[in-house]
Amino acid sequence: MADEDTGDATPFLPDRLSLKALRESAAGCRGCHLWRPATQTVFGEGRKSSRLMLVGEQPGDKEDQQGKPFVGPASRELDRGLEAAGIDRAEAYLTNVVKHFKFEERGRRRIHQTPKRFEVEGCRPWLDAELAVVRPEALVLLGAIAAKALLGSSFKVTKQRGRLLDSELAPVVIATVHPSSILRQPDEERRVAEREAFADDMRAVAEALRKV
Ligand code: SF4
Repeated sequence: MADEDTGDATPFLPDRLSLKALRESAAGCRGCHLWRPATQTVFGEGRKSSRLMLVGEQPGDKEDQQGKPFVGPASRELDRGLEAAGIDRAEAYLTNVVKHFKFEERGRRRIHQTPKRFEVEGCRPWLDAELAVVRPEALVLLGAIAAKALLGSSFKVTKQRGRLLDSELAPVVIATVHPSSILRQPDEERRVAEREAFADDMRAVAEALRKV
């Protein structure tokens, strides 16, 4: 049994990299403290043959309960954006940079807490392994945590969203906001505008995928 809570998922990785082996091994990951209060590991979902990989920050409350990525309220916004761009969600591989839900309890509610850099880095071996197995043609980073984790801490999503980025991670790399940010807009007008901007970013992904 690998040491627990060392801040590094590496000792928990399987010898053979396949999505099935990774998922099974990740279910028992104790690489950092985040597994303790969470319900379960939420590993990525999708086929090895997926041309598109979408990477978010971490599972939320619903994802933690169901053990699946992107099933909460933000996932409905993601689905809208994908649909507007003509992208079939079932064809994409969906995952997060951190595989356990980080939260604080307030009464009976569990409030999302942003993972710290050392937590993102500790969990990164799982994402690197997913990238190595799926080898997507297009990689979409959803939100600042995912974008900074893979593109460097100086990367600014607000300045570079929706643009084709020069990266060795995949032939097409695009960063945009996390779909949960649409839900956080203060009024309907801004929600509609953000929804349309997100759909535009997804259209840029679809367009780039057509050219790969
Ligand atoms: S957050 Fe990542 S590194 Fe930490 S226990 Fe969960 S899977 Fe392992």
